[in-house]
Amino acid sequence: MKTCNCPRCAHKLSDSSDPTGQGLRPAAGDITVCVFCSTVLVFTEDLGVRLMLRPEFEQLVKDDPRVLEHLGRAMIAARLMRIKIGLTNRN
Ligand SMILES: [Zn+2]
Repeated sequence: MKTCNCPRCAHKLSDSSDPTGQGLRPAAGDITVCVFCSTVLVFTEDLGVRLMLRPEFEQLVKDDPRVLEHLGRAMIAARLMRIKIGLTNRN
């Protein structure tokens, strides 16, 4: 991904990880979670990020309800990362 700022919390985002452990790299349209605020984001064509719109989220869940499980895991991982690096939800 390219270095950019989270559109929700403005923290600098410069890297992403594959929660499946397969070493996959992000592609346009993939979803991710901000490690700092757990907001659901979408990778853009230039591999920046934007906020996921509510209709997009609803359609995503409708198409594959397992996405909620994946997002839950990503949000837990983000929270653990915040604890590990000493950030609170307000940082
Ligand atoms: Zn954020």
